[in-house]
Amino acid sequence: MAATIQTLGELRQARLRKRSVKQEIRDNLMSKLRAGEALFPGIIGYDETVIPQLVNAILSRHNFILLGLRGQAKSRILRGLVDLLDEQIPVVPGCEIHDDPLAPLCAACRARVAREGEAMSIAWLPREARYVEKLATPDVTIADMVGDIDPIKAAQAGLNLSDELTMHYGLLPRANRGIFAINELPDLAGKIQVGLFNILQEGDVQIKGYPIRLNLDVMLVFTANPEDYTARGKIITPLKDRIGSEIRTHYPSTRQHAMAITQQEAWTQRAGGLRVEIPAYIRDVVEEVAFQARADRKIDKRSGVSQRLPITTLELVVSNAERRALSNGEALVVPRVTDIVAALPSITGKFELEYEGELRGAEQVARDLIRSAVGSVFSEMFEGQDTRTVVEWFDLGGSLPLSDVSSADAVVEQSRRVQGLRELAEHAGLAAGAPAPAVASAIDFVLEGLYSQKKISRSDERGYAASEPQPRRTTRREEPTLDEGFQIPGGKKKYYN
Ligand SMILES: [Zn+2]
Repeated sequence: MAATIQTLGELRQARLRKRSVKQEIRDNLMSKLRAGEALFPGIIGYDETVIPQLVNAILSRHNFILLGLRGQAKSRILRGLVDLLDEQIPVVPGCEIHDDPLAPLCAACRARVAREGEAMSIAWLPREARYVEKLATPDVTIADMVGDIDPIKAAQAGLNLSDELTMHYGLLPRANRGIFAINELPDLAGKIQVGLFNILQEGDVQIKGYPIRLNLDVMLVFTANPEDYTARGKIITPLKDRIGSEIRTHYPSTRQHAMAITQQEAWTQRAGGLRVEIPAYIRDVVEEVAFQARADRKIDKRSGVSQRLPITTLELVVSNAERRALSNGEALVVPRVTDIVAALPSITGKFELEYEGELRGAEQVARDLIRSAVGSVFSEMFEGQDTRTVVEWFDLGGSLPLSDVSSADAVVEQSRRVQGLRELAEHAGLAAGAPAPAVASAIDFVLEGLYSQKKISRSDERGYAASEPQPRRTTRREEPTLDEGFQIPGGKKKYYN
């Protein structure tokens, strides 16, 4: 259509149906539903909760708000609305508020239509340009949102300040005929919220100092973090009342959903000559860390634990494995559980601690989470497996001096000394004839699993074959036996023993 219609006269002849943005989005959503097309591609785990509510809000032509903790894909959903707009719409070329050539709002466009008539050329605006997003902050003003007098414009054109052509449009008029998304709505000053309320109430915008009202056509969508209602600000009641639907988002309800999100978002397939193979148990443990963090009473529930935690953790896990592979001259990168411990920097910053957690410290809380996550995944996978032979070897004084930088060959070689270890590692899903880095990772998983179950110990210093027992920590308030280490007769303490 765009290719053929280039003038106002042609556009008039095409007799396109005039409809509001919300009607356009509703129509396009209905077509997708009829065709059985996937809605909101890339949004995982919301098929039975958030998406149906979203569909209903759109079918109802509502403005709506997404309420949820950080990292619950709220912004992503809003950006996904762009796919529900027409691919392009006709506009008056150069108009800041994307005027409809058939019914222009602004004085400049009206004058232009009168001057040029049917021969006036039109432009086509792609849908991506019809989405305006604003992060609410307390310093946002009505002028930012709605508009203001532009004295420079007036001076340059030699116009009187009250002339409509001197207007500087704010974000909302610039979103005309599109979607205006305001993130973190409670952070917006009460006064500005009142302004928004008036717009929703009256359906038009008046810019201070001008006698005209702009009858804008905008779909307004918002996000808010429930935590902010009390912590930072609130949504004023009359505005809340005017928002048609309030939709709650949530964290992935199953580890499968969570893993699918992380797999989609994490940057793990990297160029550079190394092949990366991530074992399933690594993905499981990384995800389990987030699940345990969300349930941990040492961590502030209201702040939440974003899905960005497992995403960035997996990226660091792969990087640590790359680092090891590069220094050992290995072409195949297989992450290990010990790489997750090396990924602490992506974990400690992703949660707020409660008082009890503050006492323990972010790093120790993160270590506890990893250990507990390894324990859960290991128990699931190795349920019913006899680990006694391996544990006995350590009980009798054996030790394995290994660390996260040990080469795959070194791990495999060392593990030969422990009867039954290699066989046990097969249960981690090793394929027959698996390459050394994969075998080493599985062995590492078994050792870390036994450590998480306190059947063997590992020194915090990662000093291999450390000979002295660790001093008891006085700050440890719970699980007093967690890191004490297993002491073998004679007081010798080894890495894994
Ligand atoms: Zn215009």
